[in-house]
Amino acid sequence: MPARRRALVMPLLVAAAAGTITGMAASAPSPAIVKRRLRRMAELLEGRFGAPEWDGPEEPLGAMVRTILSQSTSDANSSAAFESLRRRFPTWRAAAEADPRDIAAAIRSGGLSNQKSVRIRDFLRWVNATFGGYTIDSLCDMAPAEAYERFCCVPGIGVKTVAVTMLFACGKDVFPVDTHVTRVTRRVGVVPAAASPERIHRLLEPHVPPGRGLSLHVNLLRLGRTICRSTPRCEVCPLNRICDTGKEKSRARTAT
Ligand code: SF4
Repeated sequence: MPARRRALVMPLLVAAAAGTITGMAASAPSPAIVKRRLRRMAELLEGRFGAPEWDGPEEPLGAMVRTILSQSTSDANSSAAFESLRRRFPTWRAAAEADPRDIAAAIRSGGLSNQKSVRIRDFLRWVNATFGGYTIDSLCDMAPAEAYERFCCVPGIGVKTVAVTMLFACGKDVFPVDTHVTRVTRRVGVVPAAASPERIHRLLEPHVPPGRGLSLHVNLLRLGRTICRSTPRCEVCPLNRICDTGKEKSRARTAT
């Protein structure tokens, strides 16, 4: 590679490996710009991946336990752990009253089983004490802000866990921010480069186009898993014309 080109490209590669890339915004754009860019992102992603459809309602308590199990593991492993948990403990009461070691044995395939077993047992006990039984069906009737406040005091339950449950179990128009959404939105430049997932959620959810929470969340996951990985493939990305990082890389290529 010629020296001049190497000087332009190498910092991008190093930053890409670190998850921070030249061109990423240092501060948050205005709400009007965020709104416009999120709409465009949703359109471009639907153009590439299609418009996802909601699978229909699911028991919210099961969905939230499933989300706890999904932390730091693959979908396949967490699904296997959830099925095993339900086989071993057919009622939520049985799991709430179980020894965490027995829960850990049932969810071993989901990873971090010792930590997750205590979280699940304590969460189920909190649900019973707070809602007078092993159900959180009322979550689907809550406004998102109320739900975030109500559940986010429980250890192991963050805004993402609540938003994922509301989106997939209740069909609410919310916008969970996971590791893929965090990486892509930072690179696109709709949030500051150093923004935490919680801050990204606060900055973006109010500006997601109405009815597009599911679409934007699911398609950003698809993009993050296939194209905007730790080393992004901007040349084949549907967002490359509106992405700060993609445009920066394109400028660097043109300058060589
Ligand atoms: S253009 Fe696409 S792949 Fe490249 S950084 Fe932006 S979102 Fe990621």
